[in-house]
Amino acid sequence: MAPSTAMASKQIVYMNNGQGETSYACNSQIQGGAQNKMKPPIEAAINELRSSTTSLLPAQMLIADLGCSSGPNALELVSVAAEAIKRHCDKLQQPPPEVCLFLNDLPGNDFNIVVKSLHTLRQRSSSTVTTGVIPGSFYERLFTTGSMHLFCSSNSLHWLSEAPEVLRKNQIPAYDIDENVRRERLPIVIEAYAEQFKKDFKNFLNLRATELVEGGYMVLSLIGRRPNDSTSEFSDLFEIVVKILRVMASEGVIDKAKFESFYVPMYAPSDQELRDIIQEEGSFCTKDLMVHDLKIFVDKSTINASWALNQIRAVFEPIIVQHFGDVMDEFVKTAEQRWSQEGSLQDEFIKHQTVTFIMSLTKA
Ligand code: SAH
Repeated sequence: MAPSTAMASKQIVYMNNGQGETSYACNSQIQGGAQNKMKPPIEAAINELRSSTTSLLPAQMLIADLGCSSGPNALELVSVAAEAIKRHCDKLQQPPPEVCLFLNDLPGNDFNIVVKSLHTLRQRSSSTVTTGVIPGSFYERLFTTGSMHLFCSSNSLHWLSEAPEVLRKNQIPAYDIDENVRRERLPIVIEAYAEQFKKDFKNFLNLRATELVEGGYMVLSLIGRRPNDSTSEFSDLFEIVVKILRVMASEGVIDKAKFESFYVPMYAPSDQELRDIIQEEGSFCTKDLMVHDLKIFVDKSTINASWALNQIRAVFEPIIVQHFGDVMDEFVKTAEQRWSQEGSLQDEFIKHQTVTFIMSLTKA
């Protein structure tokens, strides 16, 4: 059994800050691929957001991206929405509405570059009146009642409010040193994570429904699993991380007990789980739910060890370092050894089954 870990409940989520080689800003092209697939549903949502009596857009439109992170992806979705509004108004020869664009993320996010680029966006756009950052968790209230027209969120909702307490409290490891033990335990681990996701996603839907106007929209993307995939509670990309940490633990580079008390607040649901939760919660109708293979966003020719390590570090380094301390040099060394021995890093990245779901929901 793993020792208890009070720290796990206080995990602080953020992507690797700044604009360096291992930053999220420089390593988020795969996530950018998912954002590209969200453009048509965002455009469609704008076209549907007409006022109840006319075919015109409302005179004020408030739009937010939830979990924006930093770098080029942070402004992408709100910019797409603002351009769609402009196109819609040009077509109908309607004066443009006053547009307010908000970007949200957790307080640990690197908002420095985000604020500067928001300012530039506002100066470039004739109709954008206000821009702002809203630091806070999207599992809490962020906006006033009935004020928002459109919420977007890409690649963020698979992050949970916390890793399941039932595992942490009962010291049930999510990852065991022994892979066979891990496989046997996996159904319990997946169930605990699925429950946590259900609780969090329901809460998210309920909060956003309160904040949206009647007929308001949400366009969301998150990482998910295929219906019968029970090989991991999250993605097979994260399994690569776990494999590296497992080697480090068995070689004594990191403490075994530390490895067995590592819980990450992430879960990849199936499309059926999403549909069931949306229906049970009841505030939204699902207009569309698309499934994309995550692989299509990866350019095979760019896959090499340093590329793979930068992708992993951009997303997972903060959470690894919070738990294990500064072990990244050893992590890099272990990964490079593993990939040179097995010679098939491409396979490890390409074989995965993980998908991205893109959903369009309207307030019921
Ligand atoms: N939307 C960007 C960033 C995705 S990375 C893109 O598509 O590239 C996921 C982001 O979600 C991170 O910046 C993380 O800090 C943020 N996040 C995770 N949990 C969150 C929460 N509860 N509230 C707000 N943001 C959260």
